[in-house]
Amino acid sequence: MRHYQSLQHHYHLLLGLNQDWEVAEVRLSMEARAVYIRLAHKAGVEVICPECQSPCSIFDHAPERRWRHLDTMQFATELRARVPRCQCKQCGVKTIEVPLAGKHSPFTWMFEAFGVAVLQSAASTSEACALLRIGWEGAQRLMNRAVERGLVRRSLDGFEHAGMDEKSFGSGHDYITTLNDLSEGEARVIEVVHGRKHEDAVALLEQIPEAQRGQIKAVAMDMWDAYLKAARQVLPEADIVHDRYHISAHLNAAVDRVRKDEHKRLMSQGDDTLKGSKYQWLRTHADKRSSEAVSFRKLHELDLKTSRAWHYKEDFRHFWNYHYAGAAERFYKDWRKAVMSSRLEPMKKVARLIDAHWQEILNYIKHRITNAASEGLNSRIQAIKSAARGFRSFANYRVRILFHCGRLDLKPTPTH
Ligand SMILES: [Zn+2]
Repeated sequence: MRHYQSLQHHYHLLLGLNQDWEVAEVRLSMEARAVYIRLAHKAGVEVICPECQSPCSIFDHAPERRWRHLDTMQFATELRARVPRCQCKQCGVKTIEVPLAGKHSPFTWMFEAFGVAVLQSAASTSEACALLRIGWEGAQRLMNRAVERGLVRRSLDGFEHAGMDEKSFGSGHDYITTLNDLSEGEARVIEVVHGRKHEDAVALLEQIPEAQRGQIKAVAMDMWDAYLKAARQVLPEADIVHDRYHISAHLNAAVDRVRKDEHKRLMSQGDDTLKGSKYQWLRTHADKRSSEAVSFRKLHELDLKTSRAWHYKEDFRHFWNYHYAGAAERFYKDWRKAVMSSRLEPMKKVARLIDAHWQEILNYIKHRITNAASEGLNSRIQAIKSAARGFRSFANYRVRILFHCGRLDLKPTPTH
């Protein structure tokens, strides 16, 4: 082993530099707890034009640039260099590419790769920032670059089942709409737009390249006219599937309406049977021996309007289990007939709502897709939102969602 190699030479090896570059200076600052490494491009070496790849001579050197690199021990490490500019006969004067860092990046490739991994696994962006010792702006730049290359590499082959879902954004009544891929395996977010109006939804769906729109077989969504019209316009061949969880939510709300009205009537007669029972009626009571289930059964055995409403709500759950449209249709006809003669106005209202969206609800039996199935996605988006209370910029919010929920290949690929 040769012990007399210089510090510069060690760093040349550690950085994996090629022969065009040398380490001109290594400086350690104890106060800043940092290592500064100045690189120099060797004189007289031929360079390559970044545009047309033809060999050129050096024109001059651009002003010094700095890149954050992986730490040396616990010391933040920064590379500095004046990058040569070449004189290309075709392209003019251009700054050459450096082997250690991507174009316009304030980080080396190795730091970017490490930063992406930390951002992916840290509980929050602020935790990742602390681990990486970078600011929020730096983290955002890392994510912007990662998402940009991830989107270029992404394939939409097999994207057959789409979902459109609204999410609140910031505070107040501001919304975003996500386009999800519900096709197979874990769901992913394909794109995000600001807003939930018709034109927003159209802009979102038009992000699907025209050649691939024909492969979309179905789109899951809430009973929301703006989405419905947009999907019919941009994806005329796709079936619309109304989200089963929204129907369930309507049924639950109807049971609660019946309970409130009945409770009020009973209370006026001095009967507090239904007092404090709201949540019992919203549950399914799968464990029939639990104490809650037993007390619920007692309540349920009383011949109350609320019991009957609850029964219709529970019964409708069978609808989603059918695999043949004909059988599902027969089930619904019977259910509807019973509900319509029940004198439970809130339940009848739901039946009329189902009638009005019948084909889109029946389409569930054929495609079996729902945005709610991507529960993991929803909770991750929620976490992104609450970790960065009140995103001031939609662009940053979009990048965070695609970074964490787009299932993109985010790894940096050095060009050399
Ligand atoms: Zn050129």
